[in-house]
Amino acid sequence: MKANCPRVLSIAGSDSGGGAGIQADIRTITNLGGHAMTAITAVTAQNSAGVTAVELMTPDMVLAQIWAVMDDFDADAIKVGMLGSPEIALAVAGFLKSVRKKPVIFDPVMVATSGATLADSRTIAAFQKIIPLCTLVTPNLDEMERLGGEDSISGFAVPFLVKGGHGDADVLTDRLLNADGEIERWEGNRIDTRHSHGTGCTLSAAIATHLASGDSLSAAIGKARDYVRASLETAPGFGSGHGPMGVPKI
Ligand code: PLP
Repeated sequence: MKANCPRVLSIAGSDSGGGAGIQADIRTITNLGGHAMTAITAVTAQNSAGVTAVELMTPDMVLAQIWAVMDDFDADAIKVGMLGSPEIALAVAGFLKSVRKKPVIFDPVMVATSGATLADSRTIAAFQKIIPLCTLVTPNLDEMERLGGEDSISGFAVPFLVKGGHGDADVLTDRLLNADGEIERWEGNRIDTRHSHGTGCTLSAAIATHLASGDSLSAAIGKARDYVRASLETAPGFGSGHGPMGVPKI
């Protein structure tokens, strides 16, 4: 059944520049007709050039935000982005165990588009507790490498969308893989822009919103890719580095 106004909970970090993180998620979920709810894991001070400060929430505060919205509104899908610390990752894993039937999309954020580290090696190690509880994991090529490469996917037994956007070719490929190998692939011409801040956040939030409204995984990924491409095409051109994407008309 298609939900009228799909409720999507984003568990992620705040980006003061409005390009990525919670801000990208709220924008995406809202623009796609959903109701966005948030549990902020970290506050980052950043712009298109870099991250100048990061302050983490406590795991208890992350859980308090999660349960405040779950107990009253519930959610049709959950998106997990920047976790910030192993303690927050473990707290979020504990929550995800209690909502096993809901779609959960995990963008395993490790590095900001500007190059700043958003997850240290202990936090990345704690991703192992989150991944088995997910419907889909959306690593880029570098994140996939850090997670053990394609050989590790069979061990996780969870579908992975390996995003090719950081590759060098003119035609970029996103591949949906599971333990048995490739299920589907999407190809697209590279969009030539430096304003790509928040592509991973936007994609995973869009997939979560489409799953929340009843789409299949394949349809949700296809629509979310189109949405990211439209967002790149409409980037306003702000900032001296990797600026935010635009808000396409739906
Ligand atoms: N989450 C936060 C809070 C961020 O600041 C960033 C990047 O700066 C990301 C996630 C990942 O961004 P992207 O979607 O560009 O991979």
